Amino acid sequence: MTTSSARYVSTRGQAPETDFTDALLRGIAPDGGLYMPTAWPTLSPSAWDGAADYKSIALQAISPFIGDALPAGALDRALDRLTAGFDHPAVTPLVELEPGLFVLELFHGPTAAFKDLAMQLVAALTDEALAASGERLTILTATSGDTGAAAVRAFAGAKSVDLVVLHPQDRVSPVQRRQMTTVEADNVLNLAVRGDFDDCQRLVKGLLAEESLRERGRLSSVNSINWARLAGQIPYYVSATAQLGGPATFVVPTGNFGDAFAGIAATKMGLPSNGFVAAVNQNDALARAINDGVYSRRPAVESGSVSMDVQAPSNFERLVYEATGRDGDRTRAVFETFARDGAVAFDPDLLAVLRAAVSAVSIDEMETRAEIAHAQETWGRVVCPHTAVALAAARRVDRSKGPVVALSTAHPSKFGAFVSGVLGDEPEPAPVIAALGDKPERMTVVEADLSAVLGLIAR
Ligand SMILES: *Cc1c(COP(=O)(O)O)cnc(C)c1O
Repeated sequence: MTTSSARYVSTRGQAPETDFTDALLRGIAPDGGLYMPTAWPTLSPSAWDGAADYKSIALQAISPFIGDALPAGALDRALDRLTAGFDHPAVTPLVELEPGLFVLELFHGPTAAFKDLAMQLVAALTDEALAASGERLTILTATSGDTGAAAVRAFAGAKSVDLVVLHPQDRVSPVQRRQMTTVEADNVLNLAVRGDFDDCQRLVKGLLAEESLRERGRLSSVNSINWARLAGQIPYYVSATAQLGGPATFVVPTGNFGDAFAGIAATKMGLPSNGFVAAVNQNDALARAINDGVYSRRPAVESGSVSMDVQAPSNFERLVYEATGRDGDRTRAVFETFARDGAVAFDPDLLAVLRAAVSAVSIDEMETRAEIAHAQETWGRVVCPHTAVALAAARRVDRSKGPVVALSTAHPSKFGAFVSGVLGDEPEPAPVIAALGDKPERMTVVEADLSAVLGLIAR
């Protein structure tokens, strides 16, 4: 099962080949590309025959990507920690709503959103990698809510990691803020920036380039381009297929395309499936790229499904790389053109391969609200806006081909204001959210100014 030589290349073809640990700690490749495994490992069909539990599925699915880059037992320990943090024995249970239509619940973790599945794993593996090398790592991340919460929960108390999270003051939901600020851990610094999310991202970029910080140890950022995060999202597609007893069409609520690409990766490893639908909100760059053949940027619009308000889905580059037959030069040309001109048209041959891998549909705010109401009326189920986007798209899929699985990426109580705006009542809080109670919050308010932020981090 384990290949001792798991190797990684960049989608832009100009970075040296490397191993899992280096790809994990770097995040982005030095040529600006995204790391991809040099070859897809093969999963044994026993992984989805229904006998294996989540942990053993995940061991089979993830260990070939690590090879011998980490100490023996590292993945096993990481998965024990991950599953212990979930409050459902199946970890990612599959629930049937009506004949042939299912939701895959990905919100049973410590912050009630699916980002926990990847972040818990990345944190545990990062700890193992740093313990083996004796290095320290400072992780900087800008967040509009979910990523920061998942990162704080995952890295709090990590021995060799300092985590700095920048969120825009008063622009994350109260639940998201409290998930970040009520954690008591000396290695976590929460900064509430007087500005917006773009200011936070700009500050992180500036900090990552700061020599004075680099001198103190490795610097990195946790965002969804990290290969290890993607690897951590492969097992639940295998688990869903096992729970179903056969292949499904997966409908994935999509922002940065990490979740959807993990499903496509699972099929590259041999998992049978009937295809993938990327469901986006009104920020529809991906849907226009697949449906019209032109990938172009427009200004971001704020939606109820805020975690999907993405204009340039970073992991799309991985799909293009695969679709070009792993041609780094061609992939680089596509994304350099996009960066320069804000738009790039696909050749018909490339577009045909992209369309075979994934179809895409955009669901607007009216349809999202209508779907939240429909789910309540029809199935007595309260869903978050991201899940509603997926369900609206899933109900359009022809079920005569086989079952349809919509991924449910967050608990509705994380987005209580939007949901109650439709249904009238606040959703019942998830247990992990109720447990936040009125614990004291720890955060520092700072101007959107690089030297001010630097001063705080240096302390
Ligand atoms: C991040 C997120 C998404 C989008 O996932 P991507 O991997 O970025 O496509 C969907 N739903 C929720 C709740 C999220 O937090």
